Amino acid sequence: MSQYKIAVIPGDGIGPEVMKEALKVLEGLKEQDSTFQFQADMFDWNSDYYLKHGKMMPENGMETLKNYDAILFGAIGDERVPDEITIWELIMPIRKQFQQYINLRPVKKLDGMKTRYDDVEIDFVIVRENAEGEYSNSGGRLYQGMELELAIQNTVITKRGTSLAAQFAFEYAKKNGKKKVTSGTKSNAVIHSMKLWDEAVQLVASNYPEITLEENYIDALAAYFVQRPQSFEVVVASNLFGDILSDLGSALVGGLGISPSANLNPNREYPSMFEPVHGSAPDIAGTGKANPIAQIWSTAMMLEHLGRNDLAEKIMIGIESVVKQGKVLTADLGGTATTEEMGQAIIEAMLANT
Ligand code: ATP
Ligand code: MG
Repeated sequence: MSQYKIAVIPGDGIGPEVMKEALKVLEGLKEQDSTFQFQADMFDWNSDYYLKHGKMMPENGMETLKNYDAILFGAIGDERVPDEITIWELIMPIRKQFQQYINLRPVKKLDGMKTRYDDVEIDFVIVRENAEGEYSNSGGRLYQGMELELAIQNTVITKRGTSLAAQFAFEYAKKNGKKKVTSGTKSNAVIHSMKLWDEAVQLVASNYPEITLEENYIDALAAYFVQRPQSFEVVVASNLFGDILSDLGSALVGGLGISPSANLNPNREYPSMFEPVHGSAPDIAGTGKANPIAQIWSTAMMLEHLGRNDLAEKIMIGIESVVKQGKVLTADLGGTATTEEMGQAIIEAMLANT
């Protein structure tokens, strides 16, 4: 019997719309399987909350979240609140304080999904370093408004941070029967930080003789993603490179509506956070057009992290069968179904197939 405490932050825009479907999926699993019990507590920390209280979460917000086994996150973003606030006061504190130094993003072409790659199988994961790298706060601007104005933004690559990311990638490969890890680098031009990245990755790789390390410059790697996406198994990259590759990967297999992600604290000292790659999509919020798959798939990743692979697999069967049938699809996948109709179809397929 497992009883999980899940903190749910639906967020802004389509966040709450897709979250509703994800929670229904969890309820469906609970009804069917008495060994799965969970308590989902809702937190309304979004842009409305900010406009009312002047902050994204209460003072003790992080302390509160610490008590949970996992955080299920929708999406955040609202034109009335600057991105710096929504990102740096909500998402970043969670990622940083809970040491979620791995961002895991599957790139998997679902059966029946219409893509430019109908003849090949695409199924790999991107392991993005999530805590340091190019997204550091370090730097500044000088001579503002003058002709010689300049900005310096420092990249922080540590041996430890890189090793942790590489370690995760190789362990993931080992656990999942993969034979190759591809590292995205640029050490021919970015000669300090990326050289250290390479060295740290190579050192970790030497402990896994059965797994091949492939090292590609990031520009070439982006081209290979497009030319031969079927050749990848596990890709490890720095914060910025991983971010760019993730969006590219998502575009290869069907777009943001079906792209999940996990922000992981692999040593499980703190809760990990699961969220779709997409944002709050203000352009379609309130129209019922949002595809709930990315959120539901993120929920499957959460269950996998919590040790319930069996339930994660059930969800994936539900998603895959709905996509394969192609009858109930949201607009981004070429259909006319609403968020709710697609969520319902996934739940029915999930429960029918088990
Ligand atoms: P944010 O600033 O919150 O990241 P954004 O506008 O930069 O927002 P997204 O919200 O990810 O980025 O939206 C990008 C595009 O993808 C939009 O046109 C949006 O409608 C579409 N999109 C995003 N998520 C979904 C979804 N779940 N289903 C259908 N379309 C989506
Ligand atoms: Mg965005």
